[in-house]
Amino acid sequence: MTAVKPALLSLSTAELDAWLAGRDAPPYRRKQVLAWATRGSTTFQHMRDVPRVLRDELDASFRLSSLQPIARSDADRGLTTKTLYELDGGHTVEAVVMRYSDRSTLCISSQAGCPVGCPFCATGKFPFGRNLAAHEIEEQAVASARLLADEGRRLSHVVFMGMGEPFVNYDAVIDSVRRMSDPERLGISPRRIVVSTSGVIPRIEQLASEKLPVTLAVSLHAARDELRNVLVPINRKYPLKELIGVAQGYAEATGRRVSYEWVMLAGVNDTARDAKELGALLKGRPAHVNLIAFNPVDDTPYEAPSRASIREFRQRLVDGGLNVTLRDTRGREADAACGQLHERVMKQRVSA
Ligand code: SAH
Ligand code: SF4
Repeated sequence: MTAVKPALLSLSTAELDAWLAGRDAPPYRRKQVLAWATRGSTTFQHMRDVPRVLRDELDASFRLSSLQPIARSDADRGLTTKTLYELDGGHTVEAVVMRYSDRSTLCISSQAGCPVGCPFCATGKFPFGRNLAAHEIEEQAVASARLLADEGRRLSHVVFMGMGEPFVNYDAVIDSVRRMSDPERLGISPRRIVVSTSGVIPRIEQLASEKLPVTLAVSLHAARDELRNVLVPINRKYPLKELIGVAQGYAEATGRRVSYEWVMLAGVNDTARDAKELGALLKGRPAHVNLIAFNPVDDTPYEAPSRASIREFRQRLVDGGLNVTLRDTRGREADAACGQLHERVMKQRVSA
């Protein structure tokens, strides 16, 4: 059996330089090869400004991507596209492209599965698979940028809100952010990249020291430890008060307002008491609350609140002095909450 060739983007920029130097190629070839590779070329022969001999050598040595698309679902009249990719070794991850009038956003995965295990989340229901390498994260963005380019659109924003807890895979996530923002690659400004975490305190502190101006989103979902211990089990290790202190430290260190995510679960975290507790926790701080209606997941005890109770909860927060937005529920039909397409395909595989 022939060994599988490595993916071109599995090389760091320095490794690619070394590979090219070993073939007596001038240093500027790197820029050309990276431009083609991150523009989503499907064959090395597309690299027109690269000499034939070098294209053949690249072809003999590398694959252009390690990701295999195995399922796709569209929703919102074509505005949302979710793709399930198989990674080397067989695990699968999802990436969701969302098209808006002024931007195109990719929701990206950092792990196959997630070890945090929040009980309302489809990703947490499966056994943890593995961490993604930086290039596997970057390749999701490359594939999505290509999909959008075919429609005359540009991938402008990336949110780490797909499968996995980015801060359990910190080094690869930070490497992937640096790669995606590299002007020789996709060139997406870090300011347009959101990293969402369930609250891994030491890594939030580390991020503050990276000098990387990404937006930090913290998945809060509850403003008292007793409830958050259940909804976001990592809270037992990293409790609320310390979490808010460190997240706001990030805001101070970077001058960037922190976003707090709140998945609304009927009768669980949408009551007057929850609004009051959340207000007490965040009032007067440079913070922003993002309310997300729960996207129903099979075999969980949770339900989405009615539109009226979502509006009421929102108004309570506004009256309490908080900045609040209501995130649109993009891609409900596309199984868009993280892990849902994966769940459906896995169930089909099991029953096939
Ligand atoms: N692990 C990270 C990032 C991935 S999850 C985190 O938890 O922040 C991204 C967001 O999707 C989180 O805010 C998460 O709580 C939310 N989410 C998970 N399952 C959901 C569901 N079924 N409906 C709506 N949002 C969900
Ligand atoms: Fe993991 Fe985030 Fe899902 Fe919780 S919500 S299980 S942290 S992916």
